[in-house]
Amino acid sequence: MLDIYSMEDIFDQIIRRDIPAEIVYEDDQTLAFLDINPNNPGSTLVIPKKHARNIFDVEPETLAAVMETARKIAVALRAAVDADGINLIMNNEETAAQAVFHLHVHVIPRFEGDGRWFASWPHNGYAEGQRAEVAEKIRARLAR
Ligand code: AMP
Repeated sequence: MLDIYSMEDIFDQIIRRDIPAEIVYEDDQTLAFLDINPNNPGSTLVIPKKHARNIFDVEPETLAAVMETARKIAVALRAAVDADGINLIMNNEETAAQAVFHLHVHVIPRFEGDGRWFASWPHNGYAEGQRAEVAEKIRARLAR
């Protein structure tokens, strides 16, 4: 049977050094390398070596390792490029802008006045009763 969750992807090729990447950090479980098409200079991707598609199938221990590496990168990157702040972003599934289906966290340096999209996302309110309804649905799922 075809297992789409273990299929080869471009980040697996970077892990194996089959294609070049500007690797900045590596440990037993994770790898961090510069995004080839950065939002800002120094934008880094942190990935697990053990393949996961995204947040929906990753094992908790694997995600914990990825987040610890993202923390290390954020601290180093802020100092390295003298950033004013850092965004951590993870896109999960196509509708949420995931293009490479190997879990990754974007560590993006931010500079005062850089005009990046994040703050300009529209924020909409709730219709009458909708907030409580959504909250109840989430609580019900978590209680299963
Ligand atoms: P996403 O939209 O969250 O799936 O982002 C995928 C990211 O991977 C994009 O920001 C790409 O620029 C980046 N990317 C794709 N291929 C490579 C590569 N070979 N080396 C480094 N970054 C890459």
